[in-house]
Amino acid sequence: MTSTDRKGDTGYNAAVERFRDDEYPMLRGSVYLDHAGTTPYSKSLMERFARDMTSNLFGNPHSASSSSQLSTSRIEDVRLRVLQFFNADPCGFDVVFVANATAGIKLVTEALRSLPSGFDYAYHQSCHTSLVGVREEARKSICLDDHQVEGWLDGKDPFEDDNDGRCRLFAYPAQSNMDGRRYPLRWADQVHRTGAVKTKRTYTLLDAAALVSSSPLDLSHAETAPDFVVLSFYKIFGFPDLGALLVRREAEDAFSSRKYFGGGTVDMVVCVKEQWHASKSQFLHERLEDGTLGVHNIIALDAALDTHQQLFGSMATVAAHTASLSERLFHGLQSLRHGNGKSVCTIYSPSPGSCSEGAGPVVAFNVHNSLGAWISLSEVEKLANLKGFHIRTGGVCNPGGISAALGLEPWEMKRNFSSGFRCGTENDIIAGKPTGVIRASLGAMSTTSDVDKFVAFIHEFYVDGQLPPKPLEPVQLRHSSGLRVHSISIYPIKSCGGFEVPNGVSWEVRPEGLAWDREWCLVHQGSGQVLSQKRYPRMSLIKPCLDFERGELRVRYTGPILADAPRESSVPLSQNPAVFQSPNSSRPRSSRVCGEEIIAQAYASPKINSFFSTALGVSCVLARFPAGGQGKSMRHAKAHLQKHQMATSTNREMMPGAFPAPPSPPDSDSEKVMERRILLSNESPILAISLASVDALNQEIKRSGGREVSPAVFRANVVISRGLSQEQRPYVEDTWTTLRIGSHGFRMLGACRRCHMVCINQETAEKSEEPFVSLSKTRRFEGKVFFGTHMCYTPSEDGMGTKDAQFPAIRVGDEIQPGWS
Ligand SMILES: *Cc1c(COP(=O)(O)O)cnc(C)c1O
Repeated sequence: MTSTDRKGDTGYNAAVERFRDDEYPMLRGSVYLDHAGTTPYSKSLMERFARDMTSNLFGNPHSASSSSQLSTSRIEDVRLRVLQFFNADPCGFDVVFVANATAGIKLVTEALRSLPSGFDYAYHQSCHTSLVGVREEARKSICLDDHQVEGWLDGKDPFEDDNDGRCRLFAYPAQSNMDGRRYPLRWADQVHRTGAVKTKRTYTLLDAAALVSSSPLDLSHAETAPDFVVLSFYKIFGFPDLGALLVRREAEDAFSSRKYFGGGTVDMVVCVKEQWHASKSQFLHERLEDGTLGVHNIIALDAALDTHQQLFGSMATVAAHTASLSERLFHGLQSLRHGNGKSVCTIYSPSPGSCSEGAGPVVAFNVHNSLGAWISLSEVEKLANLKGFHIRTGGVCNPGGISAALGLEPWEMKRNFSSGFRCGTENDIIAGKPTGVIRASLGAMSTTSDVDKFVAFIHEFYVDGQLPPKPLEPVQLRHSSGLRVHSISIYPIKSCGGFEVPNGVSWEVRPEGLAWDREWCLVHQGSGQVLSQKRYPRMSLIKPCLDFERGELRVRYTGPILADAPRESSVPLSQNPAVFQSPNSSRPRSSRVCGEEIIAQAYASPKINSFFSTALGVSCVLARFPAGGQGKSMRHAKAHLQKHQMATSTNREMMPGAFPAPPSPPDSDSEKVMERRILLSNESPILAISLASVDALNQEIKRSGGREVSPAVFRANVVISRGLSQEQRPYVEDTWTTLRIGSHGFRMLGACRRCHMVCINQETAEKSEEPFVSLSKTRRFEGKVFFGTHMCYTPSEDGMGTKDAQFPAIRVGDEIQPGWS
């Protein structure tokens, strides 16, 4: 078919429907939607290539034989055809054949790195991974979003300090491989002109790999074009596996300091007594194409250009066809609704027509159920595979684009990495957020029926047709206890001050406790002992604050300090291994917490460590003990029900005044105590206290003439409000076996044993007798003193499949419903 004999998309589509079985036999029985990965090659292309190969003798280029001459001349012809394909004038551009787009990027990087003062690098946030890696070779690098690029073009230099005339490279994709969003070609020209003012030179690199697979690229204006354009031909034609770097002749000086030379790129080399060589000098490509070219791949490109034109006409017709398919796909997915009216897909690609540059034929999205819970990417991919759909899921080699689309902060991505997440793992929903996307992308030989089948597939398997059974709302089923969450605190650094969760903020609950609770500790430099407030009361004056926007744990010391000592310090939340002391400097050093040997990661920064050491007056280092550790980097809960709790339990079946048989130790408990993981908290994942009990204790203290204490001395995570109902007796929490907070279930793990650390005022670090004296009088059982209750999160069955269950979280004000079972 040609573009002239068929008008409009329907003609194109019908033509493809007719020839696809013949031309693309490998697509039979499949719906191939990964053209952004690679597109299939046509039978005509392979046959034409085979004919060419079998009817000609191609030698190694650059020699005098006729077979060699044939190769040389064919390569030069194809070089010209490549330029013509992009409307580029041979006077303005040179073509360097490379293995793929990435190899083109590396060639530019290698050249700029060799410049006497190196280069600075700015890259757009939706760059492919292959462009992100360039930063490792740059002296300085920055990642820019749209807004920052536009600011640059308006004259606001994104590199904060002026460099000493070092050249710069600005790289961006013509089209994102993640969501199909396109970026303006004019950026290259504008950056040239704006960037050139202050510094020596700003080069521009356009990654056209995704764009050119289904769209024309017009480089007819060499003056305003990007200096370097990279692409991979297999993404346009399916074959050959070959790439190109197009270099604007004006920018050839960028390669002037490139050091390496290989066979084919030099005119003369002197080796033995002198070391001298003369590079080829006429064409840039002669200097850059080291070794024997991919002769046969280049010759295949000839056939690829011919057959593509025969089958599809021009790139403009391909662009029009794929755009209309992609619009159909977008609207098809967008209009899917669950029985309850909620949408099925969250789409990250721009809606057709919404952005000025347009978008490529790519729809990136995620699926959720009717309760709003995300469907695991790997589940969708597995089912799609079974049903013959070829899609791509995950991070799709676009780290910046993914984090922007999914709202993942850098510390979250690093946390996901630290907690074992890797590209392609099954556990792809972390903390209620997907870690990647589903990407469906279209190509020249895609058809409307491919699109319709895929939308029907999502419809069949992921639309909850019926109204789902309403999740149980136990709080409403039973009569309300009137209890609520009064406050939530976490203690990021063990034994240091608390961080109160602000009202209205949902705080994640994890199996090992509230998010960020007791994840850090201070370790004595000499003994390896984890510091405790018992010994160092001033630790209570170290007040940490979690700042997610800056990705930092900010720490403020409110106690007395030396004149020149800092008041504040900040610790990165991310677990970048570079911030920790390298463990192989000696044997990993173990520390002790509550008598137990552990291995935590000590921070390397002298600034951080001296902040804490100075505040407390003891040489110590900050260390981190994140979730997911193994061996000595993991701990288990020790809390268990105490005898006095059995005695007051409502379902006791014993003689008045008699104690039940002592419970067996937790490990051998018949109801099989699960091995509950904890971080650095003393005994259990979560500690709760109730205000009713604090009130009762304060009554007791006042009766004996003491001063009331603040609930803060008990360092609880959850403080339960005073109930409304009369039955809200003090210490009733001892009898609870379960708890619901909002829609989440918790299991009580036993009362919390206390020591005299409760006597430290958490605001002044002063010690007094109370409340320990009154506690010993009223709350002593079997010689031990108890106050408050340990508990842990238990995922409930009736909440399965809800958004809540995917990201369990609690808030101040949540209703609390105790249970006795
Ligand atoms: C595919 C792609 C690349 C990488 O191409 P390779 O052939 O793997 O070198 C780079 N950038 C974008 C936008 C792509 O789509």
